[in-house]
Amino acid sequence: MRPFDVVVIGGGFAGLSAAAALTSSGARVLLLEARPALGGRASAFVDPATGEQVDNGQHLMLGCYHETFEFLARIGASDLVHVQPSLEVPFVDPAGCQTTLWCPPLPSPLHLLAGLVEWDALGFRDRMSAFSLAAPIRRAQRVLRTGKGRLPASPGETVENWLIRNGQTRRLRDMLWEPLALAALNQSAQEAAAPAFLGVLARMLGPGPTDSAVAVPLRPLTEVYADPACEFIRASGGEIRVSSPARVRVEGDRVTGIEVRSERIDAPAVIVAVPWFALAETFVGQVGALADLLSAAGAVAASPIVTVNLWFDRGVLPAPFIGLPGRTFQWVFDKRQVFGDSASHLSCVSSGAAAVVARSNEALAARAYDELVTALPAARAARLLRSLVVRERRATFSLAPGQPPRPGTRTPVRGLLLAGDWVDTGLPATIEGAVVSGHRAAQSFFL
Ligand SMILES: Cc1cc2nc3c(=O)[nH]c(=O)nc-3n(C[C@H](O)[C@H](O)[C@H](O)COP(=O)(O)OP(=O)(O)OC[C@H]3O[C@@H](n4cnc5c(N)ncnc54)[C@H](O)[C@@H]3O)c2cc1C
Repeated sequence: MRPFDVVVIGGGFAGLSAAAALTSSGARVLLLEARPALGGRASAFVDPATGEQVDNGQHLMLGCYHETFEFLARIGASDLVHVQPSLEVPFVDPAGCQTTLWCPPLPSPLHLLAGLVEWDALGFRDRMSAFSLAAPIRRAQRVLRTGKGRLPASPGETVENWLIRNGQTRRLRDMLWEPLALAALNQSAQEAAAPAFLGVLARMLGPGPTDSAVAVPLRPLTEVYADPACEFIRASGGEIRVSSPARVRVEGDRVTGIEVRSERIDAPAVIVAVPWFALAETFVGQVGALADLLSAAGAVAASPIVTVNLWFDRGVLPAPFIGLPGRTFQWVFDKRQVFGDSASHLSCVSSGAAAVVARSNEALAARAYDELVTALPAARAARLLRSLVVRERRATFSLAPGQPPRPGTRTPVRGLLLAGDWVDTGLPATIEGAVVSGHRAAQSFFL
């Protein structure tokens, strides 16, 4: 058998997208995943009580996740994600008023402006205030396109301060920008730094007709990408081993081998696609050349996500998902409407959940239920059958001002490349960030 050209460590979006790109280009790849299953922080498990596949947390994509769609197309999974024809999001505001933000299919950013003008949740001043963001967003788009200049947002400034400085009204911040910050950054506007948020806005309002649209996985996450990626990589001559925690042995500025328990594997290149919190334990030997990287990774703070899954005796949501701004659980998804007959639960999502992650399962389930039936009183008629709480304490890295710098793809060690959502792609901790990092690592292997 031909020896491996590259070993990829970590089987989440980053590692699988790197491995798929490499095998497509003819490299012989071995992917090692520590856990018994692929998927990492975007995976699904079987609920023992109902037998349903439950995601570790609802994952949404955006139409501007271009590299993610490229990856899904490569592994033959494009049709497992539904992309809205244009942005459409139903909300119930804290007073219980139901409205829908719908952006007509016009060129960007006219579609958003037209959507905001029609959105009943806003008053005249709120709508007008949105126009003040047009100039900084255009400038940010120029910076992203050319790689020249600086984003018009300071790294020491929070999203909230940046929005206030740019004239955004309280109502618009509460109804749109805070839910978007929580969904895209997993941190509230008061905590996250402004440049990451501006980067998201600039991409969402990109030239593509569906860049700002929401894309919803139509199957549990494992089926949407982990299984198809595994099949694709194996069919293209690559090898995947799960339950294989790997250690990279480093001596000075060289990788001298990869170890999985007592087995030793040699390859000229290795892509380490593990999260920041697993980095230190992935290396052994004389790791002095990686000291700065390891100390930066060790200082990264995390932001949790809590999901309460609720089973009712009937459908209770009028739409596949609804934004509930101003609540602990800011979004609710009806898996019955999204997955079809194979699921019957709702997923209530609390992003930026540091304040509640330590609460008991009973308290979290009660809060999710109360918020749901208060927002949608018709749901009170349904009988709650079961609840299941999933805590992801290190769901994403913090984007608060003052976090350590994020690393690049290349390292001071020859043949050692990094991937993972926390690598510096300019994107927040997202699927797209992970895939961009994976593709960059794959490209760097060939350079
Ligand atoms: C609940 C939740 C909801 C989210 N919602 C969204 C969303 O709506 N939209 C969005 O875009 N993003 C969302 N995210 C973020 C997204 O899931 C992550 O950004 C992305 O999955 C990270 O992928 P990754 O490959 O970089 O890392 P991971 O998924 O963490 O993968 C790394 C893999 O490396 C493995 N590993 C670690 N150490 C070793 C070792 N020594 N040897 C072998 N393997 C090892 C791990 O087991 C893991 O499988 C969410 C995250 C969570 C947790």
